[in-house]
Amino acid sequence: MQSSKDEIFQIIDDEIIRQSEGLELIPSENYVSGDVLRAMGSVLTNKYSEGYPGKRYYGGNQNIDRIERLAIERARQLFQADHANVQPHSGANANEAVYFAWCKPGDTILAMSLPAGGHLTHGSPVTRSAKIYNFIGYGVDDNGDIDYSDLERLAKEHQPKLILVGYSAFMKIPDFQRVREIADRVLDNPEETILMADMAHVAGLIAGGAHPNPLGFGFNVMTTTTHKTLRGPRGGLILSQGKVSNPLHKVDHTIENLPTLIDRAVFPGTQGGPLEHVIAAKAVAFGEDLRPEFKTYAQNIVKNAKTLARELATGGFILQGDGTENHLILVNVKDSFGIDGKTYEVALDKVGLTLNANALPSDKGGAFRPSGVRLGTPAMTTRGLGEAEMKTVANWMKQVAEICSQAHEQQPEETGDEALLVPYEDSLAQIRTEVRELALKFPLPATSC
Ligand SMILES: *Cc1c(COP(=O)(O)O)cnc(C)c1O
Repeated sequence: MQSSKDEIFQIIDDEIIRQSEGLELIPSENYVSGDVLRAMGSVLTNKYSEGYPGKRYYGGNQNIDRIERLAIERARQLFQADHANVQPHSGANANEAVYFAWCKPGDTILAMSLPAGGHLTHGSPVTRSAKIYNFIGYGVDDNGDIDYSDLERLAKEHQPKLILVGYSAFMKIPDFQRVREIADRVLDNPEETILMADMAHVAGLIAGGAHPNPLGFGFNVMTTTTHKTLRGPRGGLILSQGKVSNPLHKVDHTIENLPTLIDRAVFPGTQGGPLEHVIAAKAVAFGEDLRPEFKTYAQNIVKNAKTLARELATGGFILQGDGTENHLILVNVKDSFGIDGKTYEVALDKVGLTLNANALPSDKGGAFRPSGVRLGTPAMTTRGLGEAEMKTVANWMKQVAEICSQAHEQQPEETGDEALLVPYEDSLAQIRTEVRELALKFPLPATSC
């Protein structure tokens, strides 16, 4: 970091230390390369470029156009898509733009419910989308898989305009083909309904060939974030199938025109000027994702997740869905150790293992203290941790769970997580030292540009 008096840079240095000395178990986080950081920290942030390549509302976009075209081409190649819109500022914006592109206010959208593992942007009542569209939620079955018969029944009954397969706490590989067949079977007018996949979590696995691509099974559109398993800057991306035409011209509302409807829904529909420094960083990340090494990375994410899940199960943790087929693990800490997810999250933070408390489908939503925690392997795999280290991590997690369990037993009246853990500071500090030692052996790919 260049010397500057602004205290922000001191805080950034502190954050570099936090990231370096701890292990990131949050499944939606990752570490970017030095090249991605360099593109993001560039003069491209100075430029206004409303519009699309070759069709801008400002002058001086000759270099910006080259950058955005490259980003689009690489994204299309990664996902074998007819079209890519690389402008969404985030995954939430990408989803909102697709709803806006295809649905009218009051239209019905069928999506996985939040308690089942769906995402906030798929119809949680606190979102703007939920106030505009009529969201209906399908669930998961006892094995943690999509309840396809529930999905079929609801699709038949409600005749949604959009069927969404996507999630942020779901450990199976969806049967995209089956969803396509259900839609074709039960919809009265299939040409009025699009199939959308929100692959924000698993897009990197798809790009690396470790997960099927919904666009290969008749899905019309796929949204994703670029900062999770794709290992790019924070942002969103929309891939779509259909005919690409000039986004400045109005087109008919047909599935064939989806790419153009989406372009118009992103800009000017829901966003202003694109973040071209971030789009450049997306292009750099997509370039990295196209390399053969990325395939190995994607496979290793899954291998590590399976090993970690197995080790946790051996250690007495009960896993939702009996393990994992992707990078995600959802642990039922309540039934395993009699503790709640929040206490466990706080205790793990103290030893340098970062993850988040998460409701289980059985929590029926709205639980103030969820019974589970969610974790995953993309970030640890980027740092080079392998199966041996997964065993070590599972072992630390067990030790911390036992500490939390003991703390609950000894002080049943205490509800504050911090106070509860005070008597165990020494044991936690010992584990903290071990985590730091291991973490420092696996440096971040880059800490500055
Ligand atoms: C993370 C995520 C999003 C939201 O992405 P943001 O960039 O945080 O807005 C949307 N959908 C799913 C399934 C996600 O996991």
